[in-house]
Amino acid sequence: MAAPRKGSQGRAGLIFGDLWEFDPAPETADPKLKARYDLFINGEFVRPRSGKTFDSINPANEQKLAEIALAGAADVDRAYQAATKAFKGWSALPGRERGKYIFRIARLLQDRAREFAVAETMDGGKPIKESRDFDVPMAAAHFFYHAGWADKLAYVAPGRGVAPLGVVGQVIPWNFPLLMLAWKLAPALAMGNCVVLKPAETTSVTALKLAEILQDAGLPPGVVNLVTGAGETGAAVMGHPAAAKVAFTGSTEVGKRIMRQLAGTDRRMTMELGGKAANIVFDDAPIDQAVEGIVNGIFFNQGHVCCAGSRLLVHEPVAERVIAKLKNRIRVLRVGDPLDKNTDLGAINSREQLSRITRLVASGVREGAVKYQPPCMLPKKGFYFPPTLFTHVTQSHRIAREEIFGPVLSILTFRTVDEAIEKANNTPYGLSAGVWTDKGSRILRMSTELKAGVVWANTFNRFDPSSPFGGYKESGFGREGGRQGLLDYARLA
Ligand code: NAD
Repeated sequence: MAAPRKGSQGRAGLIFGDLWEFDPAPETADPKLKARYDLFINGEFVRPRSGKTFDSINPANEQKLAEIALAGAADVDRAYQAATKAFKGWSALPGRERGKYIFRIARLLQDRAREFAVAETMDGGKPIKESRDFDVPMAAAHFFYHAGWADKLAYVAPGRGVAPLGVVGQVIPWNFPLLMLAWKLAPALAMGNCVVLKPAETTSVTALKLAEILQDAGLPPGVVNLVTGAGETGAAVMGHPAAAKVAFTGSTEVGKRIMRQLAGTDRRMTMELGGKAANIVFDDAPIDQAVEGIVNGIFFNQGHVCCAGSRLLVHEPVAERVIAKLKNRIRVLRVGDPLDKNTDLGAINSREQLSRITRLVASGVREGAVKYQPPCMLPKKGFYFPPTLFTHVTQSHRIAREEIFGPVLSILTFRTVDEAIEKANNTPYGLSAGVWTDKGSRILRMSTELKAGVVWANTFNRFDPSSPFGGYKESGFGREGGRQGLLDYARLA
């Protein structure tokens, strides 16, 4: 082991990083993957009428994980037919009966939690400690929570009464594949709707493994149908005339495209889109906790998080101290094999996403911001990017305006509360924000004046199924989670 190095304050600091040899600690549970996954329509796995397939690869080593069926328009139509047929029976079931199925799904997912965590990590690149401790338990929690609602729907809109909408079309992204699926499926099913869902093309595996659970839970055929493919399949799901509602999570660009596609129809919509959240640190904040919150805010899931705290706004009196501590902290982050339990940052989800991050980071350097990356050895094979900080960032820089969706933090400073609010709101997005301060009144003021769907105080990236999540402005509309999320799948009587 090397001698302790001098820390940022001139004191000796323990730098783990690559100086300490860790024995590899790979998660060994069997993900029970199949070589090929077909479409899940009407309760069974069926070959695609398109006759086409595509590969899902492991971004950590670029090896093929599985072959996935590609759904064409005829397959999507078949899925909608199955869902339409199933709707009559499913919506007529008493809520307590629907609740039993959803409870069963939650329990079966818990039973197979380790297997799902490994599959999620291999398919998407996220560290096993995150899929094991966050993605899978949170997905189960969403099913449990909504199972609990299914027999209490009279209280979703007291005095009004609610009814399901019909068949809903859902399209989700690749950053939290199983969790986004749970966010979408659970409230729709609890309310009595049937579903046609498309996972993202780089991360279809855990959705199709969940189809096995739906079968084991005895869910009636056609209540949930899963069609796999890329943008064209997504457009067919969103545009199908049998959809009473569409729910989309993904980029603002694609969200806008879908809204143009559906303009003039009476289709109900929920849009959960991109973000560029401000994480705001005042001089009276508990600095060490704030540094942990900043690190969690931007490096959790390699920064592939819609509500990531990708813009740090730091109060000038403490800026130098916070930045020094941050640099010190990110030197000990371990980047590498996502299946290793010691890994903090896993693989970037795809080659395309890696090149987007690389492009935006290059623009930051070109436009005059100062880049800091700790020394770290990246695996030779696979898609990896080191944790990155930018100082001397101005509001006009692309790295301060555009969603990078990677482990890259843009740091700006402010002098007054008003300036912090103005800078935080100076973005087309409005999904989330964080405030770090000792002052309760300041937290209250910030939470009303920040235009963001969620504002965390002295913490970041906290989620709960009972807490509605969603955006303002170009981050979208509609909510997921809580009573509000259920209302988005209901017709008011
Ligand atoms: P994306 O928009 O490229 O793709 C999302 C999904 O849409 C994928 O399944 C894709 O196949 C599909 N798709 C692509 N073109 C389509 C079209 N024309 N019609 C219908 N579907 C189409 O986004 P992504 O790169 O997968 O995900 C990252 C984005 O998702 C980021 O912008 C992130 O902020 C956002 N996101 C938002 C939330 C939220 O709750 N607000 C949550 C997670 C991710």
